[in-house]
Amino acid sequence: MRWSQSFLPTLRDDPAGAEAASHILMVRAGLIRQLGAGLYSYLPLATRVMARIEAIVREEMTAIGGQELRLPALHPAEIWKESGRWDQVDATLFRLQDRRGADMALAMTAEEVFTSIARDDLASYRLLPQIWYQIQPKFRDEPRPKSGVLRGRQFLMKDSYSFDLDEAGLAESFQKHHDAYRRVYERCGLEPIPVEASSGTMGGSESVEFMAVCDAGEDWIVTCDGCGYAANLEKATSRHGGCGEADDPDSCPAPEKFATPDQRTIEELAQAFDFAPATRQIKTLVQVVDGQPVLFLLRGDYELNDVKQADALGTTDQRPARPEEIEKVLGAQAGSLGAVGVEEIEVYADESLRGRRGMVTGANEDGFHLRHVDVERDLPQVKWVDVRSVVEGEGCSNCGEPIALKKTIEIGHIFKLGVRYSEPMRARVLTAEGKETPLVMGSYGIGIDRIMAAAIEAHHDDDGIVWPKSIAPFDVVVSPVKMKDEVQRDAAEKLYAELREAGFEVLLDDRDERPGVKFKDADLIGVPFRIVPGPRALVNGNVEFVTRGDRSGEKEEVPLGDVVEELRRRLA
Ligand code: ATP
Ligand code: MG
Repeated sequence: MRWSQSFLPTLRDDPAGAEAASHILMVRAGLIRQLGAGLYSYLPLATRVMARIEAIVREEMTAIGGQELRLPALHPAEIWKESGRWDQVDATLFRLQDRRGADMALAMTAEEVFTSIARDDLASYRLLPQIWYQIQPKFRDEPRPKSGVLRGRQFLMKDSYSFDLDEAGLAESFQKHHDAYRRVYERCGLEPIPVEASSGTMGGSESVEFMAVCDAGEDWIVTCDGCGYAANLEKATSRHGGCGEADDPDSCPAPEKFATPDQRTIEELAQAFDFAPATRQIKTLVQVVDGQPVLFLLRGDYELNDVKQADALGTTDQRPARPEEIEKVLGAQAGSLGAVGVEEIEVYADESLRGRRGMVTGANEDGFHLRHVDVERDLPQVKWVDVRSVVEGEGCSNCGEPIALKKTIEIGHIFKLGVRYSEPMRARVLTAEGKETPLVMGSYGIGIDRIMAAAIEAHHDDDGIVWPKSIAPFDVVVSPVKMKDEVQRDAAEKLYAELREAGFEVLLDDRDERPGVKFKDADLIGVPFRIVPGPRALVNGNVEFVTRGDRSGEKEEVPLGDVVEELRRRLA
């Protein structure tokens, strides 16, 4: 392509309001323009990159036996009602009505549609296993669309679905996807960490997320260098930090009320009373779950993890109680809450409180707390759950080495669904023995635009994007210092023709701009190689050969006649 005739609108300045490096660079390098919150138009450079990522994904899906389908992204509500997700999914699902008033939804994933096809056309075990995929826009009314295309409200996803006769078959399909995803990422220049993830309330038994470490990420993962353990914070466990437990008394007197007129928070209490460090307090939180108030107890310094909470109770219908609701159930306000003697409502206690003695908790009377609480003795009604977020530096639950927390973005998710969809939607096949059995399914998602943005997050410098060669919009840019100079122009045009002939994606910067401007633009859009037929090199029959991102500072020259071979070698 000739730059002079291309639509490559680069900008000098950072766009207002953008924070993520990939967001800033995608706007500045002319890849995207914003249409609305979480909605982006992809300009030619971006569609080139996406096409290359899609091609890699298609190759790897084909390699595991995947077959490409293309389904509607506009779904009748019926199938969502059949699976139960119409009521289960929150406002993230875009819902609309057609002209006759029928409920519809925009695809956020497509389990229902794929299951409906399998139900009608996969009748026998002989047709199994099947792996079906599509590359299709997805729509989600994200609560906080941000960081450009990293979290959009419309994005492009490769979603695939596997259909097997049994769990063993599913395990194979799952492993195939695991391997295929790793190859996709490697080929796209990414090294995500596969982590155990929460399977959520969508059913299913096992789920692995591929998390790319990145500043703009919103997901925390836990890793252990000792044994390689890796899990989403929403699922991670650890040996909780024994601070304070070691000196728990062997026995303790009956709970004793004491006045705390000015101490409402964990910190205030810890400051005012030597015997009440945060690790010796019981934090009491009132949540409304499926419309009913429920108590959660945690050690004072720990945080409630809402995904763990949802997993523990099997519902996502949950929210913190409002002050008037709290007052109504416990007779006191937040700041003096506790569970001693509470019998009318369910009380869940985090595992980290098990066996603790000499604890401090609210007395359910404004301005008062209790001390000398023995958890087993004074809170016999609690149900034990794991609902706290683990903390950096705690011992790994496998090997005891200190764990680390990393900020990441999820770039893929593979999921054993089991019969979560085939049961309610009655997608069954006949076994060899002639018995009906529900299809055992998996679903697998990979975000195409998120891979593009994550690649920029991982590969950029002060000058702009440094594309991995495999997904760059162009292989090479030919940038004569002065296009008006006849010798340079001839050399550039000849190279342009030769390189295209050889099958490379070539950009010829034929603009009548100063070389500084041209080189800056080429660096910004991140083309891996720049070939400069400049006056000095040409005298010796050479061109300058510049590798994007090369910080060595050495000038390389390559004989004009060797450029094609040299480039072929470096792109290999
Ligand atoms: P997240 O936790 O980041 O919201 P998710 O768990 O909702 O993601 P999945 O439902 O597992 O995502 O979707 C599969 C893949 O689709 C993700 O791994 C990601 O690559 C991509 N994806 C999901 N949501 C978005 C989004 N809002 N914008 C861009 N890509 C997305
Ligand atoms: Mg996910």
